[in-house]
Amino acid sequence: MMSLGIYVHIPFCRSKCGYCDFSSFAGMESLIGSYLRALAKEIKSFELFDELREVDSIFIGGGTPSLLSGSELKELTSGIKEKFMVSPDAEVSIEVNPSSAGRSYMEQLIEAGINRVSIGVQSFQSKTLDKLWRQARHDDAAATVKSAKIAGFKNISVDLMFGVPEQTLYDVEKELEIAISISPEHISAYQLTLAEGTTLFEKVKKGAEILPDEKLLLQMSQKVSDSLLSGGYRHYEISNFAKQGMECRHNLHYWRGGEFIGFGAGAHSFYKGRRLYNDGGVKKFIENSNSNLPVFEEIEEDENQRLVDYLLMRFRLIDEVIDFSVINQRFNIDFLKLYLKEITKLESFGLLKLSDSGICLTRKGLSLLNNVLLEFVKVR
Ligand code: SF4
Repeated sequence: MMSLGIYVHIPFCRSKCGYCDFSSFAGMESLIGSYLRALAKEIKSFELFDELREVDSIFIGGGTPSLLSGSELKELTSGIKEKFMVSPDAEVSIEVNPSSAGRSYMEQLIEAGINRVSIGVQSFQSKTLDKLWRQARHDDAAATVKSAKIAGFKNISVDLMFGVPEQTLYDVEKELEIAISISPEHISAYQLTLAEGTTLFEKVKKGAEILPDEKLLLQMSQKVSDSLLSGGYRHYEISNFAKQGMECRHNLHYWRGGEFIGFGAGAHSFYKGRRLYNDGGVKKFIENSNSNLPVFEEIEEDENQRLVDYLLMRFRLIDEVIDFSVINQRFNIDFLKLYLKEITKLESFGLLKLSDSGICLTRKGLSLLNNVLLEFVKVR
């Protein structure tokens, strides 16, 4: 029986970053108390309609969960532990904003049962932070990692971003150099993607900001991969690198198609084969909870969409073979027979590796992931 992951969404932020289209809101901190009460109620009343399942990861994300006090977080993790069978060695992560966490706060996180911090650094350089409209200053990030280490965290992740307006290859090299020198156990390095409606998107559309061109982006991506590999990190997912054995257990749940339950406004769940979704509005989430209305809605997906979604997540994991037997059992199909023509074509283009037991993408296939997936959409 596969273990479960639990995600908790804290949608509050002090200000809205220019590129952000996450479910997060600035200026609503006065609702934190009511939101946490609604969250506690949702966790307590969640209907666990199957046999007992071990929870091996909890992820408190946002938004800026580090806006919560140590005691609020302790109450939250205790509520989860009362309801679910949380394994004693579960990975319990929280996203931390560098501008909101010093050593004493880090100690309170440990006291709340949290054993992994994911620090939203994005950049160690002021000019890049300004382009992203981040509140944190360039030296906050390194200080936050240091505080986390002194407080006793043994599992620290930092998020970096490349492809930011006016960022040069040298800037990216510098980011990587600093990140490697502070030696976190895990590094996520994302290419900036601009969602419509964000401030930065509008600026780029009007020509007020210019993104790096394709050639430079490829060089940056290659630099990220080369530097982190030589810095002792394993490239295990498109945007994620870890020291040996320090891969993010929670995200591996998502990427391997495992089950997880999401609590809070805008949270998604995949539980007992059903995809569930909570409305993204903070006020609606609180109101629904006060009126005892169900907060979850179900997302309907056809079989082919489910398969493509599954492949999308699984293919992201580098060099990890997807077993035919697992796909066959999960979707009740003969995958190889059904997609033999497409698989043979992708293999002949050097995009996919085929073995007796399964398939995985080559590096070239990974860089053309969307094109690869289209082959699996067309067949049915
Ligand atoms: S801190 Fe994170 S969630 Fe909040 S606005 Fe910035 S990017 Fe979005």
